Amino acid sequence: MSFVRGLLLSLAAAAAGAVAFGDAGRDEMVSVGLYFGDTAPRSVMVTGQGRFQGSQSSGNFEGGLRVRANGDKLAVGRFADETEVGCWVELYPVGINPWLELAGYAYRGRLRIALQSDGALKIINILGLEDYLRGVLANEMFADPEGFKVQAVACRTLALYVRDDQRRHAGDGFDLCAEGHCQVYHGVDSEIPLSDQAIRATRGEVLTFKGRPLLAAYHANAGGATDEVEDVWPGSIKQDFAYLSHVQSPFDRSAEKLPGYQWCYQWQRQISLHEVSDRLAARGQQVGEIGDLIVRRKTKSGRVRELEVVGTKGRAHVAGAARVADVLGMPSSKLELSILEANGH
Ligand SMILES: [Zn+2]
Repeated sequence: MSFVRGLLLSLAAAAAGAVAFGDAGRDEMVSVGLYFGDTAPRSVMVTGQGRFQGSQSSGNFEGGLRVRANGDKLAVGRFADETEVGCWVELYPVGINPWLELAGYAYRGRLRIALQSDGALKIINILGLEDYLRGVLANEMFADPEGFKVQAVACRTLALYVRDDQRRHAGDGFDLCAEGHCQVYHGVDSEIPLSDQAIRATRGEVLTFKGRPLLAAYHANAGGATDEVEDVWPGSIKQDFAYLSHVQSPFDRSAEKLPGYQWCYQWQRQISLHEVSDRLAARGQQVGEIGDLIVRRKTKSGRVRELEVVGTKGRAHVAGAARVADVLGMPSSKLELSILEANGH
């Protein structure tokens, strides 16, 4: 087993730019992948009062509507009474509640359900940016009113960056996923008055760099300091991300005094060398049984920037703080690492 002791938690570099004002009058839209790939169901029940629009037919529903895959088409209806709608359908709320419910969550905007290549149902929520933020903010932090305003600007900026950049979910058919990979989004159930107020107070405000929304990468806890973008994501062009730099963040230490959240600042985890080998193999590098892990270089704030993995079938050079954390399966590469016993014993 290898033993990884994290002194400080962090992953990416935090954004430090000036707050600019976007066009508050423009109704920005985002699409969020709720279920796709392995999580896509074969059949789903949507409840509420709504309207459906497919490529072949349309109609209204009240109470509940089942959507299921039927070969290369979708069928909607209530069990025996079904209508074929084509290979996609969009569902809109039309009742008093401006949302529809799906698998225990309520979503504003519309739901797009389409067949993916394996015949399962990809479900995408398409909605206004400000409504999307209401379903995100309280999942990503808890804070006082001013703290929520800062986070609202960061979440709004990141959403626009990811949407316009189109690389994170290229080919998936939506802008952002609903998980921590992009931003955690749970729809209406995440809306609380304090975060709603912060979203309204900062409506349309984004951070920009060279006139465009910037990559507002944020931490749960930066572990005391952030790092230069090229140390976290090697290959990034410094001039394009000049705002992602090494800054001190002494406030992170306050997590130590928060009951139940100490782990945000200091943590300790174990992972077997077999698992590290498997994780490397899944990312295209086969090293066999691991005999040693050597830290070759650290960043200014102490993240592991380069890691050499020595195995029976070869060596792997892991470069970049984000990739090191990913390969080790740790929440951060700001860690001290020691091997308790080699070769899985
Ligand atoms: Zn994502």
